[in-house]
Amino acid sequence: MNNPDVIVIGAGIVGAACADALSERGLRVTVVEQDIAGGGATAAGMGHLVVMDDNAAELALSSYSVALWKDLVGDRPQRHEYSGCGTIWVAADEEELEAARVKAQTLSAHGLDCELLSPARLYEREPQLRAGLAGGLLVGGDGLVYPPKSARILLDRAMRRGAVSRRATVAAIEDHGVLLADGTRHQAQHIVLAAGARSTALLPELPMQPKKGHLAITDRYPGFVRHQLVELGYIKSAHAASGDSVAFNLQPRPTGQILIGSSRQFDTVDPEVEPDMLRRMLRHAATFTPQLAQLNVLRCWTGLRAATPDGLPLIGPSAARRGLWLATGHEGLGITTSLATAQLLAAQVQGETTRIPTTPYLPGRFHE
Ligand SMILES: Cc1cc2nc3c(=O)[nH]c(=O)nc-3n(C[C@H](O)[C@H](O)[C@H](O)COP(=O)(O)OP(=O)(O)OC[C@H]3O[C@@H](n4cnc5c(N)ncnc54)[C@H](O)[C@@H]3O)c2cc1C
Repeated sequence: MNNPDVIVIGAGIVGAACADALSERGLRVTVVEQDIAGGGATAAGMGHLVVMDDNAAELALSSYSVALWKDLVGDRPQRHEYSGCGTIWVAADEEELEAARVKAQTLSAHGLDCELLSPARLYEREPQLRAGLAGGLLVGGDGLVYPPKSARILLDRAMRRGAVSRRATVAAIEDHGVLLADGTRHQAQHIVLAAGARSTALLPELPMQPKKGHLAITDRYPGFVRHQLVELGYIKSAHAASGDSVAFNLQPRPTGQILIGSSRQFDTVDPEVEPDMLRRMLRHAATFTPQLAQLNVLRCWTGLRAATPDGLPLIGPSAARRGLWLATGHEGLGITTSLATAQLLAAQVQGETTRIPTTPYLPGRFHE
């Protein structure tokens, strides 16, 4: 290795963003990835950049990160396959519309652009939605990227500053070092664990469990929907701590394809597509956009989210080994929150003041 200051384990979107932020601060970085960069959960994710507000810490991290994404994509959005499509949170009934009003207040108070939609305004924007919905909330600043491409761009940027990318498997984390599967040992002052759902293989005591998700993508139907559409009921299923669930989550890719989500399952790490779960997810989506049932689905896949008990990631020092830092446990929001994670992590490594408080995400909040 290049006598690094930092070894980052994993080149998913989180590890790549950490390599970028650390190298920007002048640190010598080596990234160890056992597969291809961005090939884990990062390749499986929808790439929705979404401000979530289930609690103040989630809102602070996701809104900070969405702003960083806008800076990153800058005036070359096509490199990331970025679209500033916004999110429409769809309210099926009065109860969900009330949830939309509360969400609007929270986001507006945070300075974010949002607009409550009457049914007429909702159908004007999204004519494919079924009749009888109560309304919606448009969050204009949300968007989407193609995550594996963004991970590669971040890693390449770090490498242009001298970072080294190495294809190898980390077999164990030691004090200020790693043991690779080929038996070699490598030292660095800082080790950053960014191995996503596989982080527990290296640190079994981590409070994380896998949540499996299915996605499906259609052929090209440009203009079928224009915004990322998510049912407000999604929030209930996304935060369930057990049981299987599906939620309506539809995304217009810049290619004209429609990405269809989503499902959540515990107690399995089997990557196989499960026909029953897929059918349930697609049928549920078609209850919101009935014409979806007429579209050709080209491909289906699954991925594992790394879920912590409180739904917030683990960002900061770990007491498990000397010199160890965690950047993992991002559940279903890690594409969105990767850039802010990297800034918080790199600032802590360098002893800098952070833009937002780090306390809610510190690994020490759970007794590792
Ligand atoms: C179905 C689904 C939909 C999603 N949709 C969204 C969304 O719309 N928006 C959003 O913000 N988030 C979404 N997510 C969540 C998001 O994809 C993840 O939170 C994010 O990709 C996590 O990135 P990561 O870098 O931590 O993990 P990963 O991408 O899994 O990267 C970890 C890397 O570490 C490597 N690695 C692991 N162990 C070792 C080892 N021992 N040695 C060397 N390398 C190792 C792996 O090969 C992998 O490349 C979704 C997730 C799923 C599953």
